[in-house]
Amino acid sequence: MWGTRGSLPRAITNDSFVSLVDKYAKDAEKAGLSTISEFRNAIRDGDLATPLVFGGNTTCNEIIYKNHRIFVDMGTGFAEASSEVMAQGRTEFHVFVTHLHWDHIMGMPFFVPLYIPGTKITIYHVHPHAPEFIKIQFNGVNFPVKWDQLGATVQFVQLKQYTPTKFDDLSVTAFALDHPGGSFGYRFDVDGYSLAIGVDGEYKRITPSDLGKDLPYYQNLDLLVFDGQYEMDELASRYDWGHCSPPIGVELALREGIRNIIITHHDPRASEEKERSMLAQALDHRNKQLAYYQTVWQDLKQPDGPAIHLAYDGMEFDLKKLTPRTKLK
Ligand SMILES: [Zn+2]
Ligand SMILES: [Zn+2]
Repeated sequence: MWGTRGSLPRAITNDSFVSLVDKYAKDAEKAGLSTISEFRNAIRDGDLATPLVFGGNTTCNEIIYKNHRIFVDMGTGFAEASSEVMAQGRTEFHVFVTHLHWDHIMGMPFFVPLYIPGTKITIYHVHPHAPEFIKIQFNGVNFPVKWDQLGATVQFVQLKQYTPTKFDDLSVTAFALDHPGGSFGYRFDVDGYSLAIGVDGEYKRITPSDLGKDLPYYQNLDLLVFDGQYEMDELASRYDWGHCSPPIGVELALREGIRNIIITHHDPRASEEKERSMLAQALDHRNKQLAYYQTVWQDLKQPDGPAIHLAYDGMEFDLKKLTPRTKLK
């Protein structure tokens, strides 16, 4: 996950850095650590907290399977990926775009391979006007380089919802999310493993009948990347802003047998402390509701219910560490 902040990138201020160091030093004292080197080890090994900060960059995820590496969205995290992809000598890129809000495309002008002749970038989109609104960033006014000056060859591929795109045996399928102007999630399936990117989404539709044609894209996922920007208490005052809250994702995961859920699109105003309290609320919700879905979770041999994670810039999640689902049922 190259970028996990929503709406706007978030820089960490000097004051918040100092107060975080202070907090972790206090945690270390409480844990009985007494020397600087013990503190340094605990920080490095994540014994005090993982992560220490949530960053960071706006939305960009990368899905890696064999020699396929597929990006979803081009927030500022996409620019962050530049040095790694350059070091790998990659010249061909596939990018699926969920929608065209700035936070999902604003990293593109700073993606270095764009300026290297011989690079080929394919952008997949459901929105019919995506090419126009992606190119608009390169008008020479908002950014100095114009579209026709790019070194790379960029081509656009219009997708249809619910129709898979194949990369060998890996399939990628778009489904609809509830978001102003429309947004599309992507489900990836291969070899008995599955994940879905469900960002940006408000999840106004949550019951099976309301989800309708989109329901199967949540069913039996190993991993759902979920838009949990707000606390439950904030949702009413942010109606129609297009984002959801972790307990709603947890409810969906409990019901549909989603084994892991990663909460992302963190609010740019949310501190590390607030993020951790939102995780605590989500865990609490899961523990209270689990009894209603016990058969689902017994069948999955995961009696504690869905695992809930908070996204951070640089997070990696290895699906191969899970048992392939096809072997379960
Ligand atoms: Zn967004
Ligand atoms: Zn959006």
